[in-house]
Amino acid sequence: MSAALKSMPFDIAKIRKDFPILDAQVHGKKLVFLDSAASAQKPRAVIDAMTHVMEAQYANVHRGLHFMSEKTSDAYEAVRDKVAALLNAASRDEIVFTRNATEAINLVAYSYGRSALRPGDAIVISEMEHHANLVPWQILRDQHGVELRVAKITDDGELDFASLEEQFADGKVKLLAITQMSNVLGSYTPAGRLAAFAHERGAKILLDGAQAVVHRRIDVQAIDADFYVFSGHKLYGPTGIGVLYAKAELLEAMPPFLAGGDMISSVSYASSTWARPPARFEAGTPAIIETIGLGAAIDYVQAIGFDAISEHERRLTDHALAVLSDIEGLKILGQAQDRGGVISFTMAQAHAHDIATLLDRQGIAVRAGHHCAEPLMGRLGVSSTARASFGLYTLPEEIDALAAGLNRIKQVFGG
Ligand code: PMP
Repeated sequence: MSAALKSMPFDIAKIRKDFPILDAQVHGKKLVFLDSAASAQKPRAVIDAMTHVMEAQYANVHRGLHFMSEKTSDAYEAVRDKVAALLNAASRDEIVFTRNATEAINLVAYSYGRSALRPGDAIVISEMEHHANLVPWQILRDQHGVELRVAKITDDGELDFASLEEQFADGKVKLLAITQMSNVLGSYTPAGRLAAFAHERGAKILLDGAQAVVHRRIDVQAIDADFYVFSGHKLYGPTGIGVLYAKAELLEAMPPFLAGGDMISSVSYASSTWARPPARFEAGTPAIIETIGLGAAIDYVQAIGFDAISEHERRLTDHALAVLSDIEGLKILGQAQDRGGVISFTMAQAHAHDIATLLDRQGIAVRAGHHCAEPLMGRLGVSSTARASFGLYTLPEEIDALAAGLNRIKQVFGG
């Protein structure tokens, strides 16, 4: 191991102790978990925060004028402040809790898409979108008459700005909906530059931060993002809780997405009026326990600090690219200049599913498939890839274990 890798920016041995699952054995081998981009493992602080709310203070939020309800409501609403601080939103009212990033994008597609966009307007996405940032726009296209355009990526897996320019050329584009980090290629897109690009051309921007928020400090004001979405479960928090950030003036003008309790101002049989955002977009009993778990996850990552988290990821990624490039027959998809700890690859000797299955026998968890990005697989000329992805608990030795595992697979398949 290189000296740089030995001196990681934080004490990983200590961090790993915070994640109980990392001691697990799989098929009699020590777990090597390289699938954090699908969903990250949970630190003890998150598990404890969720258990605590159930054991000590649980009640429904925003409803009862009783002790437990007020305590839980305060804990729940405090997370809105934590998310606002995480993203550097101008106001806590710009933070809407959703089930996940997918629901947040659907919310924008249904509410903003059907009220602010007109038939004939165009939406631009890129070739490297997750299905979550494609299918909702397709439905909007088919039901509302907007156009859906796709900006190309380069062979290196970076956004092709010349293609983006072309998509915007006729002035019809009103929304750019794009990932900040590809869950397949690991490429980052230049969020601030893209926001300026869209705004100069009279369009809004939605950033899919499902992957990026885990690895980098996000400042929605510095980026000048109109919409920003992410999921709690990739950020070391629980499943069932996600976030939509939107600028206050946009949320104010948007009609509800889901309707029912908690999102109204008044209700009669004749008509109803809506609460102000964010309540307007949080119909029904929310994911109280999960939201509080997300708050604990945010505290956890903030305490480590995003400078350290980004630096750790950079060193791991450099190391992984170096050791994987040494394996004959292995091809890494995507060579973006600005890339993070998500590495997709194919092997001449074995299919992605065989790679994942055989690695699993060695205790190593990677993902195989199309990664919810089927059109991107087509662009890359593959039907599936294997993908290794890193979290703040990932050790360089685990990447070495992956490389050793892949070399063994090569031997099995006679490569
Ligand atoms: N966008 C990207 C880039 C993702 O990686 C994912 C999750 N794989 C999503 C959106 C969707 O996230 P979720 O399934 O948590 O809604």
